[in-house]
Amino acid sequence: MSDATVFPVPEDLAQKAWVDEPRYLEMYQQSIEDPEAFWAEHGKRIHWFKPFTKVKDVNYGPGDVHIRWYEDGTTNVCYNAIDRHLPTKKDDTAIIWEGDDPSEHEYITYGQLHDNVSRFANAMKARGVKKGDRVTIYMPMIPEATYAMLACARIGAVHSVVFGGFSPDALAGRIQGCESNCVITADEGLRGGRKVPLKANTDKALKSCPDVDTVFVVKRTGGDINWDDKRDVWWDEACAAADKECPAEEMKAEDPLFILFTSGSTGNPKGVLHTTGGYLVYASMTHKYVFDYHDGDIYWCTADVGWITGHSYIVYGPLTNGATTLVFEGVPNYPTASRFWEVCDKHKVNIFYTAPTAIRALMREGLEAVKRTSRSSIRLLGTVGEPINPEAWMWYHQVVGEGRCQIVDTWWQTETGGILITPLPGATPLKPGSATRPFFGVKPLLVDNEGKVIEGAGEGNLCISDSWPGQMRTLYGDHERFVQTYFSTYDGLYFTGDGCRRDEDGYYWITGRVDDVINVSGHRMGTAEVESALVAHAKVAESAVVGYPHDIKGQGIYAYVTLNAGEEPSDELRKELVVWVRKEIGPIATPDMLQWAPGLPKTRSGKIMRRILRKIAENDYGSLGDTSTLADPSVVDDLIENRMNK
Ligand code: ATP
Ligand code: MG
Repeated sequence: MSDATVFPVPEDLAQKAWVDEPRYLEMYQQSIEDPEAFWAEHGKRIHWFKPFTKVKDVNYGPGDVHIRWYEDGTTNVCYNAIDRHLPTKKDDTAIIWEGDDPSEHEYITYGQLHDNVSRFANAMKARGVKKGDRVTIYMPMIPEATYAMLACARIGAVHSVVFGGFSPDALAGRIQGCESNCVITADEGLRGGRKVPLKANTDKALKSCPDVDTVFVVKRTGGDINWDDKRDVWWDEACAAADKECPAEEMKAEDPLFILFTSGSTGNPKGVLHTTGGYLVYASMTHKYVFDYHDGDIYWCTADVGWITGHSYIVYGPLTNGATTLVFEGVPNYPTASRFWEVCDKHKVNIFYTAPTAIRALMREGLEAVKRTSRSSIRLLGTVGEPINPEAWMWYHQVVGEGRCQIVDTWWQTETGGILITPLPGATPLKPGSATRPFFGVKPLLVDNEGKVIEGAGEGNLCISDSWPGQMRTLYGDHERFVQTYFSTYDGLYFTGDGCRRDEDGYYWITGRVDDVINVSGHRMGTAEVESALVAHAKVAESAVVGYPHDIKGQGIYAYVTLNAGEEPSDELRKELVVWVRKEIGPIATPDMLQWAPGLPKTRSGKIMRRILRKIAENDYGSLGDTSTLADPSVVDDLIENRMNK
């Protein structure tokens, strides 16, 4: 291996894991040489009511762009996630629920899951919800959120989960966007000790959604809410009146399963549509291999079900594999910055999957909060959502995992349905900051701006040259935007929108969004590299880098820097950081401007919104673009207020 820092696979892990390196290489080769045969075999991992005979029918263009997998098979996602396990796992724990308040938790067996989901499915039917209808789920992270998703899948309704942190306007837009008549919510949510007025938000949103005739309401806090007798239904009452048997609807492989809006990091959110058979094959298969899931493991993904990570890796992937999946209502720093690790100790979590934004936030709080917990049950650590800076990777590995756990840095998108580039724990030597190698059946390609394919080591725009079963099928109600966004930039390729470098060992390094690439005096630079250099400084917690117009260089580098807790900004430190980046990367990467940022603008899913930072750097505050998914608008006001050289 070419790079200095490589973490080999421990010998005993390679032996115990589903695949070791030779096996990975062999399976990958098969999957690329004969995808039809490979996916025909792995398509059988789920239960089909009627087996498929056709595997794949895909055209990335020109002409009619379409993606179809296992087209003539029939199945049901909920049946696979629950019923199939009942003969052997009825009394095994399917879901561990951990409340916002550390004193609350609950274990839900597969048998109970079956009854709860079926009752609610019948309750929806009783209100007229049927196959093909769109149902909006706007809920806190409570077990009922997963029941609602699974119940929709059971009766063939298409769910659209909207993150519980979104405003009434954002909710209304998403309800209209998928034309749903039914909303599922709670009276209030609980996050970090604070109440979230979900029902009140829903009431506001519905003023502009006259077609919604049913709102199911889970009683979570018992707080005061308004009630519309005709429209609103208590979850508990509806379920109590419903039967606990509800046959799973026979669905075609290409029937829609869910609509989900992207995070909105790069523009206004896109309503991604996923279908039934291929999605489930891919979500469950990646869950098994990427997390090396074995029967009896306790698995925790800290995402919210409002994001694709929650869909594929809290609910559908794990449950289809008969796993125990932990659902967490709270936040990483409540009541203290030790919470994540305390939950791991309490429930003996073996596999832990979170986002770089959470890792950096906890890193900022210092070592003590981690060290006072045991974490000895954890075997594997995962990350997703943004490039993980090598510094944060090392902290995760050395401090959280005490050097004992492999890390899977998983690259994927709402659009991809499941993980595409990732290490496999028993097979892949690790390099901090690299998502490493493609999963089975995935063919990444790097192309230059003219669409010319880059061979060997190099850097370019990340495309995927062939389909995989978990791929999105369209943007709901807007197939043209689907074709335009993903298939028109480079002929015959799926364009991801991300920049990427491939090293001499064939490892992939995501360098950031293509829109964010900076061009300094003719040198193209991803944001990730400069940001990682800044974060590598002992006093820096987080950073975001963007380009701005510069008379001489074309573009200059504008860096926003958040310091560690307890560090004070000063002119000296600013100079020190500029020199530091020069030394770490080279003179070409020297920041021209460096602004202290008490916080960075992030999406509700925790990703840095560089497009807003670019506007601030460009002195262009008039048009910040779509800010509906911005987590905390006051952060932006502060940055504008304190912009350098205003
Ligand atoms: P929008 O598409 O609306 O701009 P978004 O791209 O942030 O929002 P998601 O689908 O949630 O919406 O995020 C996918 C993106 O997240 C990827 O395209 C990539 O830029 C980034 N990403 C996810 N995982 C990783 C990872 N492991 N390493 C680097 N980047 C990642
Ligand atoms: Mg995107």
